[in-house]
Amino acid sequence: MTNKETGLDAMAGDGGYQESYLGDHLRFKMKREGKRFWAGDNISEYLHEGDIEKLIDEATPAFEKVLDSLLIDRETDPNSKGTARRLAKMYFNEIMAGRYDPAPDATAFPNDSQDRYEGMLVVRSELRSMCSHHHQPVTGVAYIGIIAAQKLIGLSKYTRIAQWCARRGTLQEELANDIAREIMKATDATDVGVYVQAVHGCCENRGIMAHSSLTQTTVLKGSFKDDPGTKKEFFDNIKLQQDFAPR
Ligand SMILES: [Zn+2]
Repeated sequence: MTNKETGLDAMAGDGGYQESYLGDHLRFKMKREGKRFWAGDNISEYLHEGDIEKLIDEATPAFEKVLDSLLIDRETDPNSKGTARRLAKMYFNEIMAGRYDPAPDATAFPNDSQDRYEGMLVVRSELRSMCSHHHQPVTGVAYIGIIAAQKLIGLSKYTRIAQWCARRGTLQEELANDIAREIMKATDATDVGVYVQAVHGCCENRGIMAHSSLTQTTVLKGSFKDDPGTKKEFFDNIKLQQDFAPR
């Protein structure tokens, strides 16, 4: 708090922002270094231990301001009393956690023995994301297909990686790309397919208010793209999974 008060006296030159706010300091630093910090970007390399707590402290009065602007009486309405802080914590720790957390630890095991697994692996991962246009929830599943290369990662790691990519402000098209890229990075595999199926809060709760609008996106790499047999096997597997566990 003292920090913030001192900050008010020492205005930084850049547009009147105060670098004594950690959020401002980090934003300027990323700008200076040419680091992109869009809603779907991970910025964990800029954060140190304890920074998230500081950023939550800084975001709380900002959310209070938003509630004030919405003319919500957060002083006497018991349901709105702690809302600003709840929102700040929810953004940093939950719905956008994939921006601030480093990549999940996906220890890889060698897949180079005589009896190595050479088939296709298809993992179904439940996703919770948020559209970066309206900050509305995106709920769905990703099917991640892979032909194992020299490295294997634990089955749960596919889902951890997918959820880490999803917990940001995204567009579904970007999300499928991000998952494919990170899976390729973690496994060194070049044959990867990602199929995402999701419903969007911004179509259900606002705008066209369509309650059953489903969006599908597909990203195919390597043999998933080039070999019709692999592609067919991937989609047959998805169909099997969907018959087993309908969305
Ligand atoms: Zn939207």
